[in-house]
Amino acid sequence: MTDKIIYLDNNATTKVDEKVFEEMVPYLKDEYANPSSMYDFAKKSSDAIKEARVKVRDFVNAANEKEILFTSCGTESANTAIRGALAMNKGKRHIITTMIEHPCVLNVYKMLEKQGYKVDYIKVNSNGELDLEQLSEAINDDTALVSVMFANNETGVINPVKKISEIIKSKNPNTKFFVDGVQAAGKIPIDVQENGIDMLGISGHKFHAPKGVGALYVNSKTIITPLIIGGHQERGKRAGTENVPYIVGIGKAAELAMDNLEYEMTEVKRLRDKLEDGILKNVFNARLNTGIANRVPNTTNIGFEYVEGELILLHLSDLGICASSGSACTSGSLEPSHVLRAMNVPFTAIHGSIRFSLSKFTTEKDIDYVNSVIPGVIERIRNLSPYQEELAELKRRKSL
Ligand code: PLP
Repeated sequence: MTDKIIYLDNNATTKVDEKVFEEMVPYLKDEYANPSSMYDFAKKSSDAIKEARVKVRDFVNAANEKEILFTSCGTESANTAIRGALAMNKGKRHIITTMIEHPCVLNVYKMLEKQGYKVDYIKVNSNGELDLEQLSEAINDDTALVSVMFANNETGVINPVKKISEIIKSKNPNTKFFVDGVQAAGKIPIDVQENGIDMLGISGHKFHAPKGVGALYVNSKTIITPLIIGGHQERGKRAGTENVPYIVGIGKAAELAMDNLEYEMTEVKRLRDKLEDGILKNVFNARLNTGIANRVPNTTNIGFEYVEGELILLHLSDLGICASSGSACTSGSLEPSHVLRAMNVPFTAIHGSIRFSLSKFTTEKDIDYVNSVIPGVIERIRNLSPYQEELAELKRRKSL
């Protein structure tokens, strides 16, 4: 065990930026008025929400700040968009999504299937790239919604959302397009107008705001029914007294993320590539699960063949390194992730796949340290593997 923390799990959640925290503090202490109240004391709270809405508008390049709703998280944004848009289009019963969406999207479609919707799930290739031909062929007159994530949380692979919106508009201009933008926000530029997106969800805790606040863009041509019904807040689209400090937080985080994009796409990418190259060079049974796919700059997903991912995570944790595996531990059995399964990651690597996700707070020293300890960690685990013959054969083939 160690006191040192090397945090490489930024796709799970991020550290709150000090500047975000400072901006929030007045609204957690002295500026506690309900923003809907009439007296002057409430003006600072309602103005702070207005300012945050403009910042999020600019972050996603929406045409108007009225197209931004504040929510509690990415999951609520997705649920509101999907269920809200379908409820306004009751005649249509067909939905298209992908096999690699986050559970906050996939499980909504599973529920809708039980309610009689037909859902098509678009495949990906071995790099995690979508089959656009299948998507194009699936769109028909009954298609109410196409729902595709901007970037995948496990692999970082970016989907070609502009191309997808063009396909949708050419096949059925009445079909709505929802994009789960949670893993793209803060990592690559997001432009909802340029990309023809009708609805886009983001989550504050993925780009250095606290957990418990998200946002949903709904363009002016798309009408949704609210998921949460009550007061008139958020123009009647999301009831409940606004979480002023957290809304201020996501606004500030959006502003900072825009300023940081260049750094993310150069420096964070350089460190990610350094980590990846170091592992692939020094660990003979490591493979990059995404091949040459276009990815967000902070994520790498590496399969360590013939070793257990959970064992790697435990060894890394002892060294203070936080990463994540593609497996979900369900009822005592280790099920590989639905994303890696959809990509047909070979059996030999799927159980030993690890996601490392960096942020602007990751340092060169962090990466040098991880690169220096990983070969030893993998070797120790490999020595316990029941697949010694296969490993020897793999080593022989790699050295040829
Ligand atoms: N969508 C994606 C792609 C995610 O990675 C996540 C969280 O991991 C979510 C949605 C859900 O976001 P939240 O945790 O804010 O509900």
